[in-house]
Amino acid sequence: MSESLVNALTIDVEDYFQVSAFAPHIPRADWDTLPCRLERNIDLILGFLSEADVKATFFTLGWVAERYPHLIRRIVADGHEVASHGYAHYRATEQSQERFLTDIQLAKAILEDISGEEVRGYRAPSFSIGASNAWAFDAIAQAGYRYSSSVYPIRHDHYGAPEFPRFAHEIASGLLELPVTTVRLLRVNWPAGGGGYFRLMPYRLARWSLRRVNRQDRQPAIFYFHPWELDPDQPRVPGTNAKTRFRHYVNLCRMEKRIRQLLSDFRWDRMDQVFLEGRA
Ligand SMILES: [Zn+2]
Repeated sequence: MSESLVNALTIDVEDYFQVSAFAPHIPRADWDTLPCRLERNIDLILGFLSEADVKATFFTLGWVAERYPHLIRRIVADGHEVASHGYAHYRATEQSQERFLTDIQLAKAILEDISGEEVRGYRAPSFSIGASNAWAFDAIAQAGYRYSSSVYPIRHDHYGAPEFPRFAHEIASGLLELPVTTVRLLRVNWPAGGGGYFRLMPYRLARWSLRRVNRQDRQPAIFYFHPWELDPDQPRVPGTNAKTRFRHYVNLCRMEKRIRQLLSDFRWDRMDQVFLEGRA
């Protein structure tokens, strides 16, 4: 039974070897030599989105778009929104202001060139924007983006800004920040918008959390996942510690079924349709 509010479905388009937690184990110079799983995984995603008649937003790396332009064109042809995940998956926290701006401008230009459409949304790698680098919002507005979805207002050892507002708010120069969804319980923000938690915890809990956001907060949810999360057969990255391995590989084989269930339990659309429609 579908809820009445329309939520935003988002996919961060990067391959398994570009995940931030693997950065110490995989030199960037090796990216071009590793087996690519994106074509297989995007194919799968476009297939079940089409079956469910759902449109989504694909936050895509400029690096990926340059190498697989046909994937970008297929995403656009299917009616989805192409948005930016930056060029080379550097966290905002590890870049100077100048390098950050250059990276997000480059990604926007590449994605617009290939998609033939204006790219209005940006998501920072690993939700790496918070109070300590709020200058990044000015750069995102300066680069010409209309919205950002770069904050996950939770406490986490790799990311998170629990002090940030949980829902859509205007930041600088008209830029909208659209934080990934959390559920508020016992005065703590809990992740409800995707990530390892979604694979680890029972599906019923995820559904309960999103329903609570729709019904109690009366807000649309923003949910995200990665193509590699649907790929139990991806090559294993050697040398990682137990925590990183657990977070990356737990329940990959259950993910497709869970996402399909999510698509049928809630209503979904692209970020721009949910949040920019009706705004000047
Ligand atoms: Zn990413």
